[in-house]
Amino acid sequence: MEKKNIDWENLGFSYQETAKRFVANYKNGTWDEGALISDANVTINECAGVFQYAQTCFEGLKAYTTEDGHIVCFRPDLNAQRMEDSCKRLEMPVFPKERFVQAVTDVVAANEAYVPPYGSGATLYIRPYMFGSSSVIGVKPADEYQFRIFTTPVGPYFKGGAKPLTIKVSDFDRAAPHGTGDIKAGLNYAMSLHAIVTAHAEGYDENMYLDAATRTNVEETGGANFLFVTKDNKVVTPKSNSILPSITRRSLMVVAREYLGLEVEEREVPFAEVKDFAECGLCGTAAVISPVGKIVDHGKEIAFPSGMSEMGPITKKLYDTLTGIQMGRIEAPAGWIHVIQ
Ligand SMILES: *Cc1c(COP(=O)(O)O)cnc(C)c1O
Repeated sequence: MEKKNIDWENLGFSYQETAKRFVANYKNGTWDEGALISDANVTINECAGVFQYAQTCFEGLKAYTTEDGHIVCFRPDLNAQRMEDSCKRLEMPVFPKERFVQAVTDVVAANEAYVPPYGSGATLYIRPYMFGSSSVIGVKPADEYQFRIFTTPVGPYFKGGAKPLTIKVSDFDRAAPHGTGDIKAGLNYAMSLHAIVTAHAEGYDENMYLDAATRTNVEETGGANFLFVTKDNKVVTPKSNSILPSITRRSLMVVAREYLGLEVEEREVPFAEVKDFAECGLCGTAAVISPVGKIVDHGKEIAFPSGMSEMGPITKKLYDTLTGIQMGRIEAPAGWIHVIQ
């Protein structure tokens, strides 16, 4: 297969149309068999549920080329499960998990020419999503839905090394205690845009959201989970019902315990404790871990000992081990690497 003539190393994180996308339609209570199509545009009624009442959710994962030349993706079964959870919460039909994984496999294979080569640092980002496609004007779930998966090649996340981030403790809330913070719904992002645009204008990279009820515990950023390292090398991550369960973070906790022999804790993390940690990172599919150098709480700065120029030592070990597992340089736990071809 001839690869597309793309400057992989210099790709950014933006949408670029690829050859094929997967589409399935839900009507009269069942999903059709779905198809790989060429048209990148969606045509639906002006009164579709997604437009009027934001009935939509999504997933994000990536395909890439391993050291031995296979095209793979990482734990797509967990994306399928999380999308099922999102759909149930939003009164949307579930796209069966086995079909989800098969559709991811098929759409990546159909866009093989856009999967970046090993060593480029670039990946083929995969975006599954679902939306209410039939008209609703009274507030209720739509009757018809579309499930789609498109792919787009994206560049290496850290160009010229991982620069530690500066984070602002936000005055906005991300998620209510019994709300939708634990599902991957577009609505969680729509309402975070004002907060992140404001934070960027003030010179910060990301927002740290605290729990909405008490504003004492750490939750997450707009799109990544926190991971902390204590001064005695314990790996700590916040536990809360309103955090999105990051697949990267869950995998890193396994890596910390099973591969690096570190103690791990998933528990409430009072913001008051943050100043005592040695390292801090943000976990998500795009970057795996982005190091955090500084957190600013209304003018009060918490500077982590790991500094503003590089990843902390434990963060780096976690990053190197998980990316080694993903790229096939380190043996993966059973079921983590899904081979596409
Ligand atoms: C997608 C997402 C993450 C990261 O999850 P991964 O499965 O690791 O990519 C974290 N927080 C939020 C709010 C998210 O939407």
